[in-house]
Amino acid sequence: MARKLYYENAYIKDFTATVISCTGGKRGFEVVLDETAFFPEGGGQPGDTGFIGETEVIDTVEKGGEIIHICKTAVETGKTECRLDFEKRFTNMQQHTGEHIFSGIQHSVCGFDNVGFHMGEHCITVDFNGVISAEELERIERLSNEAVFKNIPVEALYPSDEELENYAYRSKKELEGQIRLTKIGDVDLCACCGTHVAYTGEVGIIKAVSMMNYKQGVRITLQIGRKALEDYKEKNRSVLEISNLLKAKTEEITEAVERTLEKLKESVFAYSVLKKELFALKAKDAEGERFLAFDDSGSADDARIFSDMLAEKVGIAAVFSGDDENGYKYAVTSRNTDVREIGKSLNAALSGRGGGKPDMVQGSVAAAKEQIEEFWKSI
Ligand SMILES: [Zn+2]
Repeated sequence: MARKLYYENAYIKDFTATVISCTGGKRGFEVVLDETAFFPEGGGQPGDTGFIGETEVIDTVEKGGEIIHICKTAVETGKTECRLDFEKRFTNMQQHTGEHIFSGIQHSVCGFDNVGFHMGEHCITVDFNGVISAEELERIERLSNEAVFKNIPVEALYPSDEELENYAYRSKKELEGQIRLTKIGDVDLCACCGTHVAYTGEVGIIKAVSMMNYKQGVRITLQIGRKALEDYKEKNRSVLEISNLLKAKTEEITEAVERTLEKLKESVFAYSVLKKELFALKAKDAEGERFLAFDDSGSADDARIFSDMLAEKVGIAAVFSGDDENGYKYAVTSRNTDVREIGKSLNAALSGRGGGKPDMVQGSVAAAKEQIEEFWKSI
């Protein structure tokens, strides 16, 4: 197994190593080095990327006791300069250390175990095997950030089996062989194979953005460090845009949205009252066995309400609401005739879809006004 430089110093960005082998694999060329600073995927932390010579490393994994660098092209054996994508690695170190702080403090506040951890592209999620209240979450978040501000050293311990018995450490599973413990002051002590920052201050900030019930406990989404800044930038942009749209101060946008929704509700109500009055006027002089009417709102509700009014005056009433470009919503209503057959032939003739009960069928058609009128004449 290659010497793991990332455990000796997690801040190594470039190094010289000897390429021992390079073989073809499923995802690319699999390169083994005599020593490496590339961290292989493990413990929820993604594998590192970067370059071996001029060749791009797209992922690093551990397979059969070897650290495999998955490369885009083949690499020649011999001494080679290697370079990590350290911005990405450092972000992972921030995320990982932040998760330790949060989970460790959660453990002292609520006592639950961390039963899942995922570092995604935009955020990380942690799962705990118990339900955490909103107040507890706020407390855990506040204490986590206090631990960041204190700039506590992050240490790696390699205890003997005897020493290990005296440690109360968190662990996701039963571990074998030499255990590596990550110790962050009295905040966390956890068995972990990942890479971490040297001091908690480098984590930046830890923000719990959401919590949902998950299995027997909760899943919490965290924004940490550089990703928290990106998230803040994005959310701030949204807040400013909403504030401009509603012409309200940023701290008052919730009230402004509530007022806008209230006004909208009132307008919709006023519109429906007026629309009903208009339909009543239009239906006033309707007569005959079959009656066809159009409406331009494109609303299925309008078609239903209007055809129902018309059915008081005529045998069978059909209302098509919409326009030639976007198609029409329809409703066919009768008080004395089963209209389901009309609905079927209407769908067939006018590329429509829909159905209903004997006294009313509803649906939509992709046809022009002229075609609808022709169809109505033909039945
Ligand atoms: Zn860790």
